[in-house]
Amino acid sequence: MTAERLDGTAVGKAIRSDLSQEVVRLAARGIRPGLAAVLVGENPSSRIYVNTKVKTCAELGLFSRKFELPETATTEELSELIDRLNQDEQIDGILVQLPLPKQIDTACVLEAVRPEKDVDGFHPVNVGRLVRNQESLEPCTPAGIIELLRRYQLPIAGKRAVVVGRSDIVGKPIAIMLLHRHATVTVCHSRTQDLPGVCREADILIAAIGRKAMISGAYVKPGAIVIDVGMNQVTSRDDAEKAFGLDEQRFGEIEKKGYTLVGDVEPRTVMPIAGYLSPVPGGVGPLTIAMLMSNTVKAAKLRRGL
Ligand code: NDP
Repeated sequence: MTAERLDGTAVGKAIRSDLSQEVVRLAARGIRPGLAAVLVGENPSSRIYVNTKVKTCAELGLFSRKFELPETATTEELSELIDRLNQDEQIDGILVQLPLPKQIDTACVLEAVRPEKDVDGFHPVNVGRLVRNQESLEPCTPAGIIELLRRYQLPIAGKRAVVVGRSDIVGKPIAIMLLHRHATVTVCHSRTQDLPGVCREADILIAAIGRKAMISGAYVKPGAIVIDVGMNQVTSRDDAEKAFGLDEQRFGEIEKKGYTLVGDVEPRTVMPIAGYLSPVPGGVGPLTIAMLMSNTVKAAKLRRGL
């Protein structure tokens, strides 16, 4: 047996295609949803993420603007910018790319974004609404996972779900979303005892840990759905072989780029046991950005009472 691949690239494309039709319908009513992407400092990964988000907006016909502040920016300067964007009629969604430089109070900045424009779903008002199962802007990565399961018609109700990781951006919100869809949910973390044993109870296993290929076949129940959220770099051929087996494409990437991406799951040992597995790259990653676009369109509609 080998697991079926949950193709996030294809699902992301389908979500974007549905959205572009929605954008055309809104345009007919004179509405063009707009996203403001705020980048602070020089983190190269953050710059790539922001540029990709702005580019995706353009592809879908959304309005977008990029705002850049220097590495030395203060909490007050960033809050002032957010305040302006809160008032800006052209802007429906405000995205502050994380992580922020350490002198900035991240919680304070995220709370400065008006909940109606909080397309990352990180504002306490949206977190509270999510917990209460009320209409809200939901965090993009967990929303993408739910969309992936939905589009593959994989049932959630009644299943045992185990989430490894309890971060505010992935672990906690996906646990709550699965709970609202009637899964029986266990949340694990670095102090969980007998992690492999707990994971082996899962019909749906979500790995959001940030540790290279940690979840091996020994953590997986036969036939389980395994969602790999992790994004880690592997730079040695030996580590790549341990994670993927003899995969010439991966070895080639390491030679060319110096690294290949690996998730928190070890595909070599999990593929023969799981029923479904989301790959890295091409699994959860493309869905995160598709859901950000979806949230921007949703925010534009909600703000106008549509
Ligand atoms: P965090 O570092 O915020 O959280 C990691 C969680 O994993 C913590 O709850 C931690 O437990 C837990 N953990 C760490 N080590 C272990 C262990 N040995 N056993 C059990 N649990 C452990 O990470 P994020 O949630 O932000 O991200 C997780 C991964 O997902 C990262 O690789 C990140 O790059 C990726 N990611 C990918 C996205 C995408 O779009 N594809 C989007 C967001 C994240 P504790 O709380 O006890 O410390």
